Amino acid sequence: MIEKYAEFVGEQEIDAIYKLAQRLSDLSILHVNSTAAGGGVAEILQRMIPLMRELGLRADWKVIRGDEEFFTATKTFHNALQMGKAVEVPPHLYQVYEKWQEINANELDLDYDVVFIHDPQPAGLVKYRKRGWWIWRCHIDLSTPHPEVWTFLRRYVSQYHAAIFHIPEFARDDLEIPQLAIPPSIDPLSPKNREIPHTTVERVLKKFDVDPERPLLLQVSRFDWAKDPLGVIQAYKYAKRHVPDLQLVYLGSPAHDDPEGEAVYRETVKAAGGDKDIHLLMLPPDSHLEVNAFQRAADVVMQKSIREGFGLTVSEALWKKKPVIGGRAGGIKIQVIHGVTGFLATTPRTAAHYTVFLLREPKIREEMGRAGREHVRRNFLITHQLRRYLMAIAFVTK
Ligand code: UDP
Repeated sequence: MIEKYAEFVGEQEIDAIYKLAQRLSDLSILHVNSTAAGGGVAEILQRMIPLMRELGLRADWKVIRGDEEFFTATKTFHNALQMGKAVEVPPHLYQVYEKWQEINANELDLDYDVVFIHDPQPAGLVKYRKRGWWIWRCHIDLSTPHPEVWTFLRRYVSQYHAAIFHIPEFARDDLEIPQLAIPPSIDPLSPKNREIPHTTVERVLKKFDVDPERPLLLQVSRFDWAKDPLGVIQAYKYAKRHVPDLQLVYLGSPAHDDPEGEAVYRETVKAAGGDKDIHLLMLPPDSHLEVNAFQRAADVVMQKSIREGFGLTVSEALWKKKPVIGGRAGGIKIQVIHGVTGFLATTPRTAAHYTVFLLREPKIREEMGRAGREHVRRNFLITHQLRRYLMAIAFVTK
């Protein structure tokens, strides 16, 4: 119910969204991505599509399919686009990518007025566009891409009517299509973010042998090198020297389009070295209640990413009034305002320093928590993103 968001963003904002939607009600809208669950893109679409429909828009969501080879290709591209030259890209992966674009284009009905293609995985579908306005919605950091992979992808991206990035910094000088910046968002009413009773929080902690009475540091992330799981463990170990009863929960889940997760998980287990206060939890991707409970139970939340598109987990934690220690990467920088909603830290040592500081200063934690929630309320709730998407549709179809 879109009306329910008025309590957070005000009646005027809801009115504005309705007015925009009315103008667009003749259009059919399709979102396409590469996984139905796991990761931030699926997380948003699960909530965005029902809201668009409620506004009277004809919105659909389709997920492309692929085999293991395809997802290895797209994960390699993903890493190469975010990490640059450091990633080796075997040349045959380009053909694998192209093959699956064709298969999906043949299988999926893409006959819509407006088509949002999310991320590089299905970007090549544009080659098979017959009609409609196509928008490439990019969720990753494209500021220093692997030159060859970007040249390959750019050939497709240039065929879109517009591209949307999370932050203006990700826009590309070598693209001639219109580029918009729209940050993603969290849903305050979703099972992941809505208020839950304290008893539920405690129950979840106990279920996983985490002590609610002792300080808790949390990172919620897929097991992905870009999220720096080893850096998190290192930071925890430094911090524990000063706060001996500190516990760490690293909560991750497998994503169907991420074949690397297992290997990263194993390395992280090794780095944890049998410390009983480190809880590495691999939960199903729909464990929203658990994520919600841990974010509420945490004293300090970390998102130590080295590369990040946006980092929804940051807004999720800020919304729950938790200060966040974030890596100086991508969209984290517009969520963590250094010294106001949390701290930006690059090395494990600085991350540990801020962790210890915050654990010792409950008043500052509280103050930052309040500032964080307000920052999210003003900028990163789902209604903001919805409104901006509608504006983007109005813009491309005008
Ligand atoms: N998430 C989850 N369970 C996990 C790990 C992540 O539910 O074990 C959710 C997390 O709460 C967030 C999303 O997946 O909503 C991750 O989005 P983010 O932008 O932080 O990172 P991405 O995975 O897209 O790189």
